[in-house]
Amino acid sequence: MNEQSLIQADVIIIGAGPGGLTAALYASRANLKTIVIERGAPGGELLNTSEIENYPGFTQISGAELADKFYSSAMSFGAQHVYGDVEKITIQDQMKQVLVGDKVYQSPVVIIATGAHNRRLDIPGENQLSGQGVSYCAVCDGFFFKNRELVVIGGGDSAVEEGTYLTQFAEKVTIIHRRDRLRAQEILQERAFANPKVEFIWDTVVESINGDMMVESVTLKNVKTNEVTDLKTNGVFVYIGIVPNSQIVSELGITTPEGWIVTNDIMETSIPGVFAIGDVREKHLRQVATAVGDGSIAGQRAYDYIQSLEPQLEK
Ligand code: NAP
Repeated sequence: MNEQSLIQADVIIIGAGPGGLTAALYASRANLKTIVIERGAPGGELLNTSEIENYPGFTQISGAELADKFYSSAMSFGAQHVYGDVEKITIQDQMKQVLVGDKVYQSPVVIIATGAHNRRLDIPGENQLSGQGVSYCAVCDGFFFKNRELVVIGGGDSAVEEGTYLTQFAEKVTIIHRRDRLRAQEILQERAFANPKVEFIWDTVVESINGDMMVESVTLKNVKTNEVTDLKTNGVFVYIGIVPNSQIVSELGITTPEGWIVTNDIMETSIPGVFAIGDVREKHLRQVATAVGDGSIAGQRAYDYIQSLEPQLEK
């Protein structure tokens, strides 16, 4: 490995969502050389979220605006943000190497804040019509459906919140859920039920998404009666849960069988110096506020961990 390709830091944070950016703020403010590696735009899932109204201090703020504020705050104490898609993490004694293309970042602490991505339905038509009417991001694509009819699949917070958001563009939004009760928070349910543009189809799964060049219809199956019907629609938004972005640590033995990273309450994984925070972590409540809490703990613990190592590192 030549000298140029090895970059040393105290703390490497992988992922610049709310958790990663908060960890960067705490670690850099503790005077640690902190590098945040992100493969997309800073902000993570905030950038795919319309409005946030359950992050303290803001009665309502757009996801993009909050992302911007988190980013400015995180960078204000000297953390460095670099673009890159991490391929692998290796561990050698107390040092961790993070491989990004032809560069190796090395540090005693790595904080994994890689988040999660939307689960796919895995049904005929989904891949072929992705970007042609099938979407996983209302904020990104809602505008293209002005005065159109849309289908939203799912019954959790995302489906109900983003489905309601889509009514500002669409003429009608039909939320299709596989059960007869929503999983979403009561306040989101109440809003959706009160919205004249939102309709629900219960106990129903989508079997295929149909159309030549663009989405034209979905084929539905009622799971109680087995009745199969077609519903015309101009677009399909899929919100059926999330899957952890933990591929880069799949060989480290720190995840559940489903891929969520297991930590204790101070965000430590079973590998000393490797922390995990935010949505990628096995936890009960995945929110901006909890990711921020995780990030602050990990940023502080990174400092404590390096302090505990320092006599050994100097030898
Ligand atoms: P989620 O809470 O896991 O809900 C997924 C929904 O999709 C469930 O209703 C589930 O049905 C349904 N589903 C799962 N697989 C399906 C399939 N193959 N076919 C049809 N339906 C399927 O996921 P989410 O709504 O994306 O939320 C992810 C996390 O972010 C959650 O922790 C959530 O609380 C959080 N979040 C919070 C907010 C907020 O606070 N404002 C907003 C968005 C997200 P069942 O109900 O039958 O399992």
